Amino acid sequence: MDVRAHVSVIFHLDKCIGCHTCSVACKNVWTDRPGAEYMWWNNVETKPGTGFPTHWENQKTFNGGWKWNGNGNLEMRCQNKADAFLKLFYNPNQPNLDDYYEPFTYKYEDLFTAKAGDDQPTAIPVSLITGEPMEIKAGPNWDDDLSGSPIYAENDLNLDKLTEEERAQLFEVERLTMFYLPRICNHCANPTCVAACPSGAIYKRGEDGIVLINQEKCRGWRACVAACPYKKIYYNWKTGKSEKCILCFPRLETGQPPACFHSCVGRIRYLGVILYDADRVPDAMKVHDRALVESQRTTILDPHDPAVVAAARKNGISEEFIESAQKSPVFQYVMKWKLALPLHIEYRTMPLLFYVPPLLPVMGKSANGTYEHSADGFFTSLAESRLPIKYLASLFSAGNEQIVEAVMKKLMAVRHYKRWQSVRDMAESDVQKILREAQTTPAEVEEIYAMTAIPTQFQRYVLPPLQREEAIQSTCSPEACKGCSGFSLNPTVMGERA
Ligand code: SF4
Ligand code: SF4
Repeated sequence: MDVRAHVSVIFHLDKCIGCHTCSVACKNVWTDRPGAEYMWWNNVETKPGTGFPTHWENQKTFNGGWKWNGNGNLEMRCQNKADAFLKLFYNPNQPNLDDYYEPFTYKYEDLFTAKAGDDQPTAIPVSLITGEPMEIKAGPNWDDDLSGSPIYAENDLNLDKLTEEERAQLFEVERLTMFYLPRICNHCANPTCVAACPSGAIYKRGEDGIVLINQEKCRGWRACVAACPYKKIYYNWKTGKSEKCILCFPRLETGQPPACFHSCVGRIRYLGVILYDADRVPDAMKVHDRALVESQRTTILDPHDPAVVAAARKNGISEEFIESAQKSPVFQYVMKWKLALPLHIEYRTMPLLFYVPPLLPVMGKSANGTYEHSADGFFTSLAESRLPIKYLASLFSAGNEQIVEAVMKKLMAVRHYKRWQSVRDMAESDVQKILREAQTTPAEVEEIYAMTAIPTQFQRYVLPPLQREEAIQSTCSPEACKGCSGFSLNPTVMGERA
């Protein structure tokens, strides 16, 4: 067991109100400068929708992530040993500016300098790249709230798993629904961006696993842009270097949560340390799609297990880090309650950002002023869910519907139990049945409720003590050194390197 510590995060999608405050906070802190105008290290998408950059989930076009052929190593989709060199000069998998959008501003000075006339002056849009007037055709949240639109929602690739009938039902007006999907870099445990970089400029920090790009070493080849299946690396056209979310490590190192977390209006974001077994990482993603979520869970270790704690200490992980892992909300959501799932785990990069899938559409169905009961004891059955389970499974469990169903049942059980406590509109025996079906207990429901509805800032953000110099000493030592620059990014862990 090779225990490593990693800062990991949860986004609780039931709580996201789609206000984009997170995106704007990040923009103002990190990408409000020339060459970075089109970058949104944090963006919020409306689902169903095509996202940003548009159709980023279409790996037939972008070829991001790893592929596994059923045996042998993982292989990068975007390049191999034979063509990696040629793709430095022409890479057909790169997104272009149209896939993002041409950044723009408005000619505000015209409002003040226009000559007096019969019409109000207007501020026309101008390109932030050329300075010329332009017609705005896209933006980072162009499909915002356009859940029903034929251009955006209906072209969501995750809908391909639905039958024609299910698709038609989804887009019926009374059933029409949507949710928000905030996205940042997943700081993956097995990131293709790191493996693809020909200059070795991208690395995971040893002490907390944050994925960073060394701007001194980056030569702007953009192999990482193609390799990241989440399209969370951006090329700065002014500096000629690639850039990405840095999980606000300068803030973390001074005891503050990242800017997007700090500003989140819905308080959907949680941050904490997890301990994981680096020895398990090489093989964890070499399983069939349906088994990927469970396989990733086997890499995450119980920070309360004395054997894990002893192995962590032996690896030089500090007591403070171990204590952070024991209080981590991420461990609770992912491992204890099994409510949080990775986004598109079938890309096999082992994302360490987890999402609690949205339940709200399921519970939003009411009749005569109260929630409807259904035959199976739930107010609204999963089969009647406004967002088909198949769709959510395509996003959060590589198509394994049982995993999403288990999450939904537990989320519903929490709501029924808490509603019963205050409204008493169900028989207690019915509520007990719901809890049993969801394989949960009143005690667990109370824990989930407390962490979901009324957590303090210090419960949501359990920050490790990150004084970087001390932290590096705590995870690296000459005895433990594997020549990994602080993290086990050897070819075995990374799969087949180009
Ligand atoms: Fe790299 Fe994963 Fe972040 Fe993409 S999401 S940039 S693959 S760490
Ligand atoms: Fe959602 Fe929070 Fe971002 Fe608002 S600030 S869009 S609630 S993640």
